[in-house]
Amino acid sequence: MGVRFCPGCGAAPEFVQEYWVGSDRHFLCWCAACGMLSTVVLAAQLVSHEPEH
Ligand SMILES: [Zn+2]
Repeated sequence: MGVRFCPGCGAAPEFVQEYWVGSDRHFLCWCAACGMLSTVVLAAQLVSHEPEH
């Protein structure tokens, strides 16, 4: 899993750097199409009361 689409314009990000903060995955994305620099966070436990599928 990663970031395949720019949150701003939907194009493929030119640059994606994945790193961890605690148990959360962060993706630093830069899009050449619109010049937007964004950070996408995927929390490790978005849902805690349901088992993973
Ligand atoms: Zn973009």
